[in-house]
Amino acid sequence: MEKQISVLSMKTHQCKNCQGSFPISQIFNCVQCSVMICGSCGLRKHRTHTLNDLLVEEQIKTMMEETRNFFSSEHDYYQNEFKSQCETELRRMFSGISSLQLEIANKLSQMTENDLERAKSEVKRLKGLYGEMRLFYGKYEAQNKMHWDYLQVI
Ligand SMILES: [Zn+2]
Ligand SMILES: [Zn+2]
Repeated sequence: MEKQISVLSMKTHQCKNCQGSFPISQIFNCVQCSVMICGSCGLRKHRTHTLNDLLVEEQIKTMMEETRNFFSSEHDYYQNEFKSQCETELRRMFSGISSLQLEIANKLSQMTENDLERAKSEVKRLKGLYGEMRLFYGKYEAQNKMHWDYLQVI
């Protein structure tokens, strides 16, 4: 993640007010005007508006992107390995994960520096859910194998 952020930071963004080019750390997103502006224009022309720190937004986006990739690969794996007996339980866990992801995504535009830590812990929670699911699936597989061995014997 560190690497991606530094790449993002090097990219310059244009202020839609003064047309100057700025690093992402000096660019803000004005919620009311929905434009990207620099800090000085923000102070001069958008004083009463809500300005979102793009750096925080980008960090959370990068984190969500990584999380999404991680989850979709996990999801594909379990989808392929699905067996009817554990389907209900796994589906319950998946829907919990999806709604958590949605919740984070919905809050994205209102997130501040403080929220970044919270988002990180949410992601950790999501990963925890997957760990739980993996454990559950492992148990199921072991059980399935025992059953299979039993069938082989009789
Ligand atoms: Zn400007
Ligand atoms: Zn504005």
